[in-house]
Amino acid sequence: MNSGQKGAALLLLAAGQSARMGENKLLLPLLGRSVLERALNAALAADEITHIIIVASEQARPLASELAERYTEKPISVVSGGATRQESAYLGLLAAKGADIAAIHDAARCLVSPAIIDESVRCARKFGSGVVALAVQDTIKRVDAGVVRATLDRSELVQIQTPQTFACDLILRAHEKARSDGFLGTDDSSLAERLGESVRTVAGSAENIKLTTQADIGIALGILARRGEAAAPRAGFGEDTHRLVSGRRLILGGVDIPFDKGLLGHSDADALTHAVMDALLGAAALPDIGELFPDTDAGYEGASSIGLLRQVAKTLESAGFKIGGVDAVVVAQNPKLAPYKAQMRQNIAAALGVPAHSVNVKATTTEGLGKEGRGEAITARAVAVITQS
Ligand code: MG
Repeated sequence: MNSGQKGAALLLLAAGQSARMGENKLLLPLLGRSVLERALNAALAADEITHIIIVASEQARPLASELAERYTEKPISVVSGGATRQESAYLGLLAAKGADIAAIHDAARCLVSPAIIDESVRCARKFGSGVVALAVQDTIKRVDAGVVRATLDRSELVQIQTPQTFACDLILRAHEKARSDGFLGTDDSSLAERLGESVRTVAGSAENIKLTTQADIGIALGILARRGEAAAPRAGFGEDTHRLVSGRRLILGGVDIPFDKGLLGHSDADALTHAVMDALLGAAALPDIGELFPDTDAGYEGASSIGLLRQVAKTLESAGFKIGGVDAVVVAQNPKLAPYKAQMRQNIAAALGVPAHSVNVKATTTEGLGKEGRGEAITARAVAVITQS
């Protein structure tokens, strides 16, 4: 099981259940790269780290294995985690046996800088330990049943982050002692402290946050933006034309418009909504509506296109995209569409789950020219801007 490899091993703990996030946070995309991949990238970029052991939950294991295969610049192995963080760290340490140094790092701290990892390894090499810590900014008080009992001296307090780096045999001994004593600590350092070891700290960073709740994702995106890694907007274009014929309802942007003709098509033939869907799918580089909702499928006969637009919005969301805005134009000689534009806009925005001001619908004629000008067809064009979250 253990690699027996000397050098400095980084144990990437990815076995948590993400109870407070609601879904496995390590698999969440953060500007196109998962949290686990970002943590791994930091470890790969840290000069002092010679090899990496990912300690993964069952759920994170397929991604961990895929990453271990994809990144080849350092040896990466994957082992199964345990029921608690402490158990997972121990299992990682068993796999790291033979290394001089073990840097134990929570994969949820995926914004750690390689420089911090390196500093903790250098400190552990010199002193036996190098635990990343951050000075406390807020005043901390001890309270009991809502009553303040003491104000603690802030200058003596630090917040502990990871990596927590140690001489490998020291931290393995500390974990074995804790196991035999049945002691469960909240971090690795506390286990070493129980051995009477003097534990050294190295300076952490306010950017080395642990992604715990959904709100932390927003903070992480802000940090990445400051590092110049902003979400690049992606644009898409959609166009659709349907024939105007008698005996059909005219539906545009989900609005049933009184007119003596309507658009011919398999669904409700809402050309405007179709153009919007294709613009969004195009921006996400996903298959177009012809592929998603084929007109050979009887299930889409007479389908409400606004309902299909809602499905498109969900597809984009699960692919990790956020809708920025949509602009559309309807080309029709008749009827006059001005009275219905506001309602079209609202219908589209509601289906997309965005504010109405993120959607615009315009109408134009071709001054009698071409198929739209002759009243044979209505055409719609749309552009959409989305970002990857
Ligand atoms: Mg169409």
